[in-house]
Amino acid sequence: MIIGAGLAGCEAAWQAAKRGISVDLYEMRPGVMTGAHTGGDLAELVCSNSLGSNLKDRASGVLKEELRLAGSLLVECAEKAAVPAGNALAVDRKLFSSEIEKKLHSCHNVHIIREEVREIPADRPVIIASGPLSSSAISAEITKLCGTDNLFFFDAIAPIVEHDSIDLTIAYAGSRYSKNEDDDGDYINCPFNRQEYETFVTELTAAKRIPLKSFEEQIEQGVAAGKMSFFEGCLPVEILAGRSIQALAFGPMRPVGLIDPRTGKRPWAVLQLRQDNLSGSLYNLVGFQTNLLQKEQERVFRMIPGLANAQFVRYGQMHRNTYICAPGTLTAALNMIDHPQVFFAGQLCGVEGYMGNIAAGLLAGINAARTIQGQDPLTLPEEMISGSLFHYIATADGKHFQPMKANFGILPPLENSPRSKRERYQLYSQRALEKAAAIFGEEL
Ligand SMILES: Cc1cc2nc3c(=O)[nH]c(=O)nc-3n(C[C@H](O)[C@H](O)[C@H](O)COP(=O)(O)OP(=O)(O)OC[C@H]3O[C@@H](n4cnc5c(N)ncnc54)[C@H](O)[C@@H]3O)c2cc1C
Repeated sequence: MIIGAGLAGCEAAWQAAKRGISVDLYEMRPGVMTGAHTGGDLAELVCSNSLGSNLKDRASGVLKEELRLAGSLLVECAEKAAVPAGNALAVDRKLFSSEIEKKLHSCHNVHIIREEVREIPADRPVIIASGPLSSSAISAEITKLCGTDNLFFFDAIAPIVEHDSIDLTIAYAGSRYSKNEDDDGDYINCPFNRQEYETFVTELTAAKRIPLKSFEEQIEQGVAAGKMSFFEGCLPVEILAGRSIQALAFGPMRPVGLIDPRTGKRPWAVLQLRQDNLSGSLYNLVGFQTNLLQKEQERVFRMIPGLANAQFVRYGQMHRNTYICAPGTLTAALNMIDHPQVFFAGQLCGVEGYMGNIAAGLLAGINAARTIQGQDPLTLPEEMISGSLFHYIATADGKHFQPMKANFGILPPLENSPRSKRERYQLYSQRALEKAAAIFGEEL
């Protein structure tokens, strides 16, 4: 049984059916709608019609190639529905959906059932792929299964930058209140003097924001009216900054216990960067969840001392997004540690972006089929873009877990890594595709 015929659910259905499994694919639309879908089409793209780059030196391009090697239904249908978009794969969304529907209807062992699922069955393997806008009934069921603290209903995401792009002649490593002068602690600290801080706050509060849809407006109004204090920890940084000029210096940018080794003094304010992946190649801006336009994030956050040349691998954002806390809940094969017959796929499992969600559907479909056929579930090599995503969600820091998009920063480092980024990306790509060809060649 698959809950949700979105990007992940349709791909999962195809993969399981191709392996001889009889699939019940449940979709609640058009009878029950979400806040973003417009009708009853399967795998409706809710926003952009672009599935990202086709270039093999971009993470999303490599991911697409991995999916082609794996025989992805959705990539095949996207190619049939492609519209001109330079190096990107963009689609006519209606044609894309109808191609998928046609293929699934042609599959005798896929049964598409237009009904909201309100309970998760305990007696058979299930793939939960009900997406970021999962219905309230199924969200309540997921809460029962995963625990109240392990299901999030909205995202307030802070940006992530590449470690190599942080200027360490300005920013310094160290933990708050560390007594050790040589502390190379858990954080990288970006120190502000008073003038830098005040200019930064002025630019931050005036920067252009992404227009909010009604759900997000409700959050913001609820927070402003003091009715939703539980969102306080996830307030966009620009809203917090607008409360008073010193709000950040007493909040996420408080400098206490963070002496700057170059001056021997406490800075006026400090932005902390926290390591975001095991290899330490990515750092997130602590407390800087934001709703600014992406260009504005680049402009304003590059004013932070030490981040003038920051390379962003993920921008901050705030929107309705239901997802589970995968670390501690899921394995890298996408089934639950405590309930191995229950798989999660798509945005719900903590993978961000259309292609990543398709990839999660693909692996969950393969693994549900393998489980039913008495085989061990497949874990993809970490060197693959898809494999690195699933390893990331299974092993990330559960306390600060937020969905992750395909990127080169979460791959294991190369041996003898070249200095040139271009060459590095080419080698990552080559390594990923060799692994993908080997594993899918064997599995298919
Ligand atoms: C507003 C918004 C805009 C986004 N824009 C982009 C973008 O431009 N680019 C990008 O890469 N990513 C974007 N995303 C993120 C994500 O890539 C997409 O949401 C993607 O569609 C997620 O795929 P999915 O398969 O997990 O969920 P979905 O594609 O949403 O599929 C889930 C399906 O489950 C159904 N469902 C829900 N509950 C039930 C139930 N109880 N029973 C039966 N069916 C149910 C839903 O109707 C839906 O069809 C956006 C997300 C949101 C919320």
